[in-house]
Amino acid sequence: SNIVAIVGRPNVGKSTLFNRLLERREAIVDSTAGVTRDRHYGKSDWNGVDFTVIDTGGYDVGTDDIFEQEIRKQVQLAVDEATSIIFMVNVEEGLTDTDQEIFELLRKSNKPVYLVVNKVDSSKEELPATEFYQLGVEKYFTLSSATGSGTGELLDQVVSDFPTTDYKDPFEGLPKITIAGRPNVGKSTLTNALLDVERNIVTDIAGTTRDSIQTLYNKFGHEFVLVDTAGMRRKSKVNEDLEFYSVMRSIRSIEYSDVVIIMVDATLGWESQDMNIFGLAQKNRKGIVILVNKWDLVEKETNTMRDFEAAIKHKIGQFNDVPILFVSALTKQRILKAVEVAMQVYEDRKKKIKTSKLNEVMLPIFEGTPPPAIKGKYIKIKYCVQLPTPSPQFVFFCNLPQYVKEPYKRFTENQLRKEFGFTGVPIEVYFRQK
Ligand code: GDP
Repeated sequence: SNIVAIVGRPNVGKSTLFNRLLERREAIVDSTAGVTRDRHYGKSDWNGVDFTVIDTGGYDVGTDDIFEQEIRKQVQLAVDEATSIIFMVNVEEGLTDTDQEIFELLRKSNKPVYLVVNKVDSSKEELPATEFYQLGVEKYFTLSSATGSGTGELLDQVVSDFPTTDYKDPFEGLPKITIAGRPNVGKSTLTNALLDVERNIVTDIAGTTRDSIQTLYNKFGHEFVLVDTAGMRRKSKVNEDLEFYSVMRSIRSIEYSDVVIIMVDATLGWESQDMNIFGLAQKNRKGIVILVNKWDLVEKETNTMRDFEAAIKHKIGQFNDVPILFVSALTKQRILKAVEVAMQVYEDRKKKIKTSKLNEVMLPIFEGTPPPAIKGKYIKIKYCVQLPTPSPQFVFFCNLPQYVKEPYKRFTENQLRKEFGFTGVPIEVYFRQK
């Protein structure tokens, strides 16, 4: 999908624009409860076109030295990952040397760059922005962080410039699996281990998305496509050890995938970055399998595995019906099992429950445990269907959907899981008026 990166010096107003873009969307679409919004990337849409937004300035900068480095990284990230780059400057501070340097770097990329002059507070007297023409652009956009005015004009342009894709996915219809995780968790080792086990590779197409590699595996009775981001088998030129990069690099392959294998380092445990990847996969409604890797390094006692599993389930929160396997990519312990489980999750994610079966199973459950009455009003669920979406979504028709509260939705989801088996698969449950 298209990625729009917002680049600029600290405090020019990047986050304000970022938040504005996300809020529009989240208010309308993203109602997934319990998913915390990440500060650095998110989904938006304009004129019905979806895109991902990256706020490249999400990380705070300390000293001037780091500042310089950090900006270079931002720019590199934008150039590497983005479809379009919004370069933001601030009218109150005018055009600075740093602005000019950044713009030079951006201009060398082949990506469309949109110069955006943030007016910060439009209630102030209009400050002249014409000095920004020194950068040699034909056109710039003005925004007001305070009111959001100007956003529409900018987005009209950005979205209409998105490349039209006449690209045909050569792996259409095949299971797509991404191996995601922090740097050094063992992603490359696992990928290579699978390659070793699996000599029967059919294709290795590079550059289907600019720098990800898809490899078609065809064995273990399964055919699937492993999606690599650049820098997994071949280490990337940019700082792969930065949390920021590795998360960003995951975005594209996660979006393209059906199932995300999240690798965790057994010697480090589940950390915030693992949670970011998990949240990303969940938000995108992808199947999830957690692999605790480097299990060979862990000293085991009777309950080590169980405790580890419990600790992860506790940390990942509400949606914790996720397979967790303990593997060693190095010794290849249980890696075929991991593939099998990922394929099971893939199948479950595609699974469609027949309407007759769904009603036959769910209606008696609702009768036995109806939603609590509110203000003396009883809620009656009459009928349910599964939507024809890529991941499971269910609609329950009832007389008073507005009275069905979060705990009951969760109860419904749990019942669906219990009855039909959706381990590792995010489910959406909607209550609607018939
Ligand atoms: P990536 O950055 O996620 O691709 O991680 P790599 O695959 O490059 O692995 C980082 C380091 O961890 C390498 O030195 C690997 O040999 C080591 N490693 C990977 N998997 C395992 C494992 O299961 N057990 C042990 N002991 N080491 C591992």
